[in-house]
Amino acid sequence: MDEIFMLAALAQSRKAVPECLPNPPLGCAIVDGQEIVAQGYTQALEKHHAEADALKQIQGKAFNFLKMYVTLEPCSFHGRTPTCMCFSDR
Ligand SMILES: [Zn+2]
Repeated sequence: MDEIFMLAALAQSRKAVPECLPNPPLGCAIVDGQEIVAQGYTQALEKHHAEADALKQIQGKAFNFLKMYVTLEPCSFHGRTPTCMCFSDR
């Protein structure tokens, strides 16, 4: 199943180009058990990265355990947007 979910994240990343440039085109899939509950991709500059794009779709919803599949390690710095590592704090 990991491969299927990673392929879903890769498919999302293809939607990012060209609006995301010069940021890398990332994709993300968030999974609850065997079900994809949110997907996202890198938005235009100064808008959501892939992880934040997906997380905003499930914000406020309750889950027991989620897995996130991302095509690149989530950023941990504040640049044009806040770090994706603290998206849930916003
Ligand atoms: Zn990020």
